[in-house]
Amino acid sequence: MTATICPPSESQLSLPALPSAAILKIVRDRAIAKTQRERQQEELLDERELYAATIRHKLTGLCTLTQYFNFCRCGHEKIFRTCKCCGAVEQFEYQCSIKWCPRCQWKLGLAREKVITAWAEQVTQPKHLVLTQRNFKTLTPAKLREHTRNLAKFRRSLAFREVSGGCVTVEVTNEQHGWHLHSHWLCDVRFLDMPEVSRTWGKLVGQEFAIVKVKDVRQREYLREVSKYVAKPADLAGWEAEHLNEFVHAVRGRRFFFTFGSLFHAGPAIRRALRADKAQAACESCGAWEFRYENELSATLHEAAKHAPSGRARFKRTLQLSGR
Ligand SMILES: [Zn+2]
Ligand SMILES: [Zn+2]
Repeated sequence: MTATICPPSESQLSLPALPSAAILKIVRDRAIAKTQRERQQEELLDERELYAATIRHKLTGLCTLTQYFNFCRCGHEKIFRTCKCCGAVEQFEYQCSIKWCPRCQWKLGLAREKVITAWAEQVTQPKHLVLTQRNFKTLTPAKLREHTRNLAKFRRSLAFREVSGGCVTVEVTNEQHGWHLHSHWLCDVRFLDMPEVSRTWGKLVGQEFAIVKVKDVRQREYLREVSKYVAKPADLAGWEAEHLNEFVHAVRGRRFFFTFGSLFHAGPAIRRALRADKAQAACESCGAWEFRYENELSATLHEAAKHAPSGRARFKRTLQLSGR
């Protein structure tokens, strides 16, 4: 059986003529949307920079943690990546990846949101639960450790017996009436006995009754809430310097996000799939994948040793000497 192919007619070849006013409108609308998008991104960027600068200013002279100095380098220092195959050098901005850094926090949150979204798609009955407790005066690592222990006990309690899996994220706030800790839970469960939840959690935190609530999950707003990182940059920037310093010291090295049950088991597989999705960029010049990373000073020294013959000879001599 053979198919007959007809040549396209004159009218098929030319594009349907749109009225020029309509074309102009499309072009104009797209241009406006593009400008709005760019302005929004700029505003977000400016906002993050402003929060970071405020936090840095408040902690100057008060905080001496290495983490604080890394935070100060974030976005200001360059990292150099040298291709081990062809020697091509590319520059990147140093990122501190500290959980309270306004520049890095949103990226970390986004990665977490992707993992949770992938898991939530497999869950038919998600519930968003919020647990709160009374405010307290001083934020210390011990206080946070105690809170994490309570979360683990709660997860194993009878109130949670029907929950097959999920995750929990802890948020720290301070609205001038002391510190406040609350947790957002995303659970896979058909039904939660809320009076029992309140009693169980209350008992763990030494209260007769604790304020707990289940929030609506239909708007998928919960994905953002459970992906949040410990404290909002706007809050952090607004705190008094002493509070900010207390917070930075207390949260160092502590975890504020936990997965359990089905999400705990699904997490690594989902993360692997996400990573495979976004592989590290290859060398732009030769396509190789092996790199050496260094800071500005070390990269300059390497470069100098490569180009100056005397430098190279000295470098060689140093190596020979150290070899003896
Ligand atoms: Zn290369
Ligand atoms: Zn950072």
